[in-house]
Amino acid sequence: MEAIRLDGKKLASEIELQLLKRVNVLKQKYNYTPVLAAIIVGEDPASKTYVKMKSKACARVGLNSVTVNLSKNTTTEKLVNKIRELNADSKICGILLQHPTPLHIDEQLCFNEIALNKDVDGVSATSFGNMTNGYPAFKCATPLGIITLLKHYNIIIEGKHAVIVGRSAILGKPTAMLLLQENATVTICHRKTINLEQYVRQADILVAAVGKANLIKSAWLKPNVILIDCGYNQNNVGDIELDNHALSICSAYTPVPGGVGPMTISSLISQAVEAAEIYSAFLPEKRN
Ligand code: NAP
Repeated sequence: MEAIRLDGKKLASEIELQLLKRVNVLKQKYNYTPVLAAIIVGEDPASKTYVKMKSKACARVGLNSVTVNLSKNTTTEKLVNKIRELNADSKICGILLQHPTPLHIDEQLCFNEIALNKDVDGVSATSFGNMTNGYPAFKCATPLGIITLLKHYNIIIEGKHAVIVGRSAILGKPTAMLLLQENATVTICHRKTINLEQYVRQADILVAAVGKANLIKSAWLKPNVILIDCGYNQNNVGDIELDNHALSICSAYTPVPGGVGPMTISSLISQAVEAAEIYSAFLPEKRN
């Protein structure tokens, strides 16, 4: 049977149409146009591209967005102050601190400063803890996008062996936690894993979250594996070698680009709209 292409771009467009309707309700009922704030520290071109894509997605659903550009020499203290300023600004419904920040910044400390009700990228330790323990929380955007995509295509997660390659705080670890909550049996691999191949060979669901082109060889894949490739490397190449053998052996796969990337953005924007809806409960309704 031909492998299913998990089309994140198409699903994200469908989700955006629903979000546009929800934002219009906020505008009409409360005269409220929520704003998503993104902070970039430094000049990383990839971060700038990601934030531009997120701002465009905001515009498509009717949200306003602001980008705060801070110099690469910004201190942790200055960044914390900027986050506090945005926390206190009632127009801002969500705050995104673009990862990675320069190495001298204590990134997790800054993530933890984001007010819980505005942590729409789910990066603070409290959001992570709540998410992990099944309490209400905004979730990390990419992991949430992955789960949304799997569910949309009716892929059964329960009982499967999910192998995640990569353990970053914004991607590998939270993806593992969400898959665990969906009752997968989860293995996490990383740079110190000895014999990556033997773990990949056991995967019913394989999530590649590394950032190294074709690190995972198609010869390692188990028949009927579901391939989720988060890697975004030069020349639109993922972390999994997606050659004819991989396509013939897997049961489903995310294309690169057009798989996980658009789902990340739609998950972020969905949570920003949800944050705005929660806030709107405190607003007076517009009088005609
Ligand atoms: P990261 O913070 O650099 O983490 C990379 C992870 O890969 C680390 O846990 C590292 O292990 C592991 N790793 C590196 N080399 C390895 C190897 N040879 N074998 C096994 N594990 C290895 O990166 P990230 O932010 O998680 O992002 C990973 C990739 O996903 C990047 O390509 C990024 O652009 C992409 N991404 C895509 C989206 C999207 O929306 N599509 C969103 C976020 C990220 P150690 O912990 O041992 O160092």
